[in-house]
Amino acid sequence: MPLNIDAAAPPPNGERRPEPYAGREHKRVVMLAIFSLAWISTVLAWTLMALGGISSPALRDVFVANLVFHPLMFAAVSGRMLPERVVEMMCLLFATGICAACMVLRLYFPSYGGRIDLEPLYLWIPVIYVFAFIVAGHKSSLRISLGIMALFLVISLPYLLQSPSPRFANFTIQLHMVSAVLVAALYFFSSYQQRLQVAQLTMDELATLSHTDELTRLPNRRRISQVVGYELARFERYGSGFALIMIDIDHFKDVNDRFGHPVGDRALKALALRARQALRDGDTLGRWGGEEFVIVLPEAGLDDALRKAHALCAHVARAPLIDDLPITISCGVASVTPADTAESLFHRADAALYTAKQHGRNRAESAAPA
Ligand code: GH3
Ligand code: MG
Ligand code: MG
Repeated sequence: MPLNIDAAAPPPNGERRPEPYAGREHKRVVMLAIFSLAWISTVLAWTLMALGGISSPALRDVFVANLVFHPLMFAAVSGRMLPERVVEMMCLLFATGICAACMVLRLYFPSYGGRIDLEPLYLWIPVIYVFAFIVAGHKSSLRISLGIMALFLVISLPYLLQSPSPRFANFTIQLHMVSAVLVAALYFFSSYQQRLQVAQLTMDELATLSHTDELTRLPNRRRISQVVGYELARFERYGSGFALIMIDIDHFKDVNDRFGHPVGDRALKALALRARQALRDGDTLGRWGGEEFVIVLPEAGLDDALRKAHALCAHVARAPLIDDLPITISCGVASVTPADTAESLFHRADAALYTAKQHGRNRAESAAPA
């Protein structure tokens, strides 16, 4: 399963995420438009036939089926009564059923279906294969298309064997050949698309891995540097300030020495969880390296950040992180100024952290603005 960095690292302010359901809503609108158009074109076709004095019970039945089916599907989609996949499969079945019925009537029951023209009917059949590849998965669309091809072949075979009119026979044979070429081409494009999707997923996964710390699942140093880069750009452009808190666990070497490295690792994970609880959604907490963490606080001034760092120290010291192990942290706070680069900002936060260590640990200090 692809990892989701979003849960760990909210994007810095100003980055816009795509609406997760915008694509689905768009598809729903397209489906409703298609059902409406299909209904209108059926009414038009029937009216034109009536005006031309053409009457055919078979065509009338086809029109009635269309006039009933499309509003039903319209209602199902607009009222969200059926899952979209079910609606799509029903449409595929309906289109195949109508074309198969028309073919049977035209080829074997000329007195009833004689008015059905083979040319437009055969023009519509390839659309069914395209539709199958749109709605079904890569492998199942091939199976469905081959099934539909077999159906039309079985329907037409007895007719072809009983020496039909050469024109009809030619049409029908050409239909099967075009169908075979079309299905092969669609399968080729669908394989290509599938390979692209797999490559895209792999790239997303690699991008997430390259930004995630393996132990704590927090954003790693690279990602934090990126977020600070975004914030600096926003500060330069819009003047929206931000602050950094550098965190270092107190006497962590002792923890490793006394309880072993695995216990130290568990403490690091527990600290990541506990620190995350004390932050706003827009704040980014990441592992800077070793037992050092960084928090990026968008829209925060020096005093806000210092208050937050004090609260964080108290929140961590309040209860043991794991087992009965009391752990405390020290924090260094710095807020951005116009003269800052990422390096100078980190440098001041680091200097403030050093002061906090000098002043006895389990405390937060802020650096004077540059
Ligand atoms: P101070 O209060 O001055 O920070 O003392 P300290 O003992 O924490 O000193 P320092 O920050 O220099 O020590 C860092 C220690 O963190 C050294 C290393 O053993 C430990 N450490 C770094 N990365 C990891 C890790 O991934 N897992 C574990 N278990 N320990 C780590
Ligand atoms: Mg350290
Ligand atoms: Mg330390």
